[in-house]
Amino acid sequence: MQGVVILGATGSIGDSTLDVIARHPDQYRVVALSAHSNAEKLLALCLRFKPEQAVLVDGAKAPWLAAELKKAGGKTELLVGEAALCEIAAHPDAAQVMAAIVGAAGLLPTLAAVKAGKRVLLANKEALVMSGELFMAAVREHGAELLPIDSEHNAIFQSLPYACQQGQGLKAHGVTQLLLTGSGGPFRSRELATFGAITPAEAVAHPNWSMGQKISVDSATMMNKGLEFIEARWLFDCPPADIQVVLHPQSIIHSMVRYADGSVLAQMGNPDMRTPIAHAMAYPERIDAGVRPLDFFSLGQFSFEAPDPARYPCLYLAIDACKAGQGATTVLNAANEVAVAAFLAGRIPFTSIAQLVEEALARFGRETVSDLAGILALDRQGRQFVENRLPC
Ligand code: NAD
Ligand code: MG
Repeated sequence: MQGVVILGATGSIGDSTLDVIARHPDQYRVVALSAHSNAEKLLALCLRFKPEQAVLVDGAKAPWLAAELKKAGGKTELLVGEAALCEIAAHPDAAQVMAAIVGAAGLLPTLAAVKAGKRVLLANKEALVMSGELFMAAVREHGAELLPIDSEHNAIFQSLPYACQQGQGLKAHGVTQLLLTGSGGPFRSRELATFGAITPAEAVAHPNWSMGQKISVDSATMMNKGLEFIEARWLFDCPPADIQVVLHPQSIIHSMVRYADGSVLAQMGNPDMRTPIAHAMAYPERIDAGVRPLDFFSLGQFSFEAPDPARYPCLYLAIDACKAGQGATTVLNAANEVAVAAFLAGRIPFTSIAQLVEEALARFGRETVSDLAGILALDRQGRQFVENRLPC
């Protein structure tokens, strides 16, 4: 029986993780759960999964939740505030920690799980975008096991030789290129001249995946693929020149690995996050994930194209930032988070997201950072810079 902590349990990845756990009550038990502010959902999850601890970051509804938990007579202890996230991430009864908080808020708790030497199931790609080099050094130093949940990186991981899965170099094992696939999002064929009129509701309606709001907007701008490019660079220690983005609108091939002998290995499946989650939880075994088997006869066609820079400027800003280094990727992420939140709040048009990120990179993109304090300071500067440019 393995104990699991879920950081960001009330989100989309949290739902899928709990669904997989519920299918295997003999193998996994929930040790702790966290939510930002959705106290009602956290209560329902506590009553169902009976964790030892639950964290509510936003204290406003904490007295209500504590009273409800007490009324229900459960054993769950309620902790409040950000610092408690790091506490549950290092819970001694947990073998695995699902890092599924969205955005920079996930960095410190995910690092806490790494420092506690856990098997870390990494959904929170922003943590790696902000701190890749430092993060991977911490994984090695503390003997943590990092398994990718992002479907593309999980697909690459599955398509790599075992030695590379264990951290050995790609080149030495004949790997020449990582091919990162992406659907192109909801606006792949929308008239470019109408991009200024894109509404938040249109941007979050992804054609193939059901996800949280921020990552859905990132998928529409393809900043998500850019963040994944940076994520792949660090996870697999792959030079940016050896990573290629390929549009594949059907989202059936989740990514591929090219080898020196001409082989290309791909991982396929229906677009359902329970596959990479179950893979990473059970690795190196396989367990049922509740995912519909892929039916090749109803698939129709697979197609592939190159991403158009005019349609997806955020993708290319991210690739350039990756080449520029850690300071640039920290600023890219910070600026993007603020710009996406402003777009979702109706404060700026869709096209301003790329503009604001570009301006932030022009201002701070050459900064160098070498430690966590520097990364957090640059993250704050990037956010403030974009905040100052938002309309009132
Ligand atoms: P979501 O918005 O559905 O859920 C986010 C979770 O994080 C919630 O539990 C929320 O309470 C918590 N949270 C939000 N802000 C917080 C804060 N400031 N402090 C603490 N907790 C906070 O998001 P999601 O779609 O589940 O995505 C989670 C992460 O996984 C993201 O980094 C995303 O890029 C990544 N990811 C998601 C998918 C997917 O299919 N949803 C796929 C690949 C990667
Ligand atoms: Mg992905």
